[in-house]
Amino acid sequence: MKITIIAGARPNFIKIAPIINAIKKKQNEGFEISFRLVHTGQHYDKNLSDTFFEELNIPQPDVNLDVKSGTQSEQTAAIMIAFERELVIHPCDLVLVVGDVNSTMACAIVAKKCHTKVAHVEAGIRSGDLSMPEEINRMLTDSITDYFFTTSTSASDNLLKLGCNPENVHFVGNVMIDTLLQNLNRISVPDFWNEHQLSEKNYIILTLHRPANVDEVSSLVALLQGIDTLVGDKKILFPIHPRTQAILSENQTNFKNIIFVLPQGYLNFMYLIKNSFAVITDSGGISEETTVLRIPCFTMRNNTERPETETIGTNTIVGTSLDNLRERFAAFLQNGPKKAGIPELWDGKASERIISILVDKK
Ligand code: UDP
Repeated sequence: MKITIIAGARPNFIKIAPIINAIKKKQNEGFEISFRLVHTGQHYDKNLSDTFFEELNIPQPDVNLDVKSGTQSEQTAAIMIAFERELVIHPCDLVLVVGDVNSTMACAIVAKKCHTKVAHVEAGIRSGDLSMPEEINRMLTDSITDYFFTTSTSASDNLLKLGCNPENVHFVGNVMIDTLLQNLNRISVPDFWNEHQLSEKNYIILTLHRPANVDEVSSLVALLQGIDTLVGDKKILFPIHPRTQAILSENQTNFKNIIFVLPQGYLNFMYLIKNSFAVITDSGGISEETTVLRIPCFTMRNNTERPETETIGTNTIVGTSLDNLRERFAAFLQNGPKKAGIPELWDGKASERIISILVDKK
């Protein structure tokens, strides 16, 4: 079986690493399975791309479509045009897409129109919030996917309610957690740890990059001012996403407690998360990782497509208002962290399950 794997953005790189490891394992067991890795070039910053390939031992892509930035439609169209050419020259049995970025949707559409089977890893999750481009990407991708791999039974249920064939909906667990568990003994302390006088539990990690939180500069600054004074004696470490950085000017990054650092590589970032007091974020992936590391996580969104991070895990959905964050954080400071567990099958073996199922489909 020849699989073309698509990756375009930071969370994709983290998700494909264990899938590639699982393919290599099957190859060593004598199975006829090969892969071609396509990097669409959606993320091209060293900090958001190359570092992840190096740290997670992901092989160099066979091709980089080099699409770079643009509006939603410009980027999606550029990926489709470039990937169609690529697929005509290098046909395969299956295109495997992960997550919910523009590359996921664009390449799934191209594959399907070229009569190639599509596998979607992290299928079926839904926030119901169509103002987020990711939700549109999820819906469209799943509408043409052949093989669905889900992280939760609720994601599988969403697909079954849509009428997907149950034989092709596979609850396998979470590939992002495969990467976390495979690399937990390799996480490493960042260079700036001493310089910023960080120590276990004396800081909060902050990440924000969703348009609803960062696109309006005055509300972003007001939000940061509020977060700056949320907990007097804690530092707040903010690995700032290039998208957010582009919106803030230099004089808007002067705060009492917030320390701005570059986006971190995976091994440093996981070290920082694991040793943090709490996390404030608008990332979906981080709410999964904090659940497994049992770190309290406060999500600055009105909804989540990953409900198990809140019902089972350490995540609290606080909405986008500062007042809500203050209220929920004060309750946490007073009552301590909520009791949390780890969702079913988030055990580090999702990728192996996926590849075993795909090998059987052939
Ligand atoms: N991440 C990282 N360094 C950072 C910020 C995030 O390695 O400075 C990782 C994080 O652990 C998670 C992934 O990037 O695995 C999430 O990426 P992002 O927040 O861009 O995507 P989302 O989860 O919102 O789709």
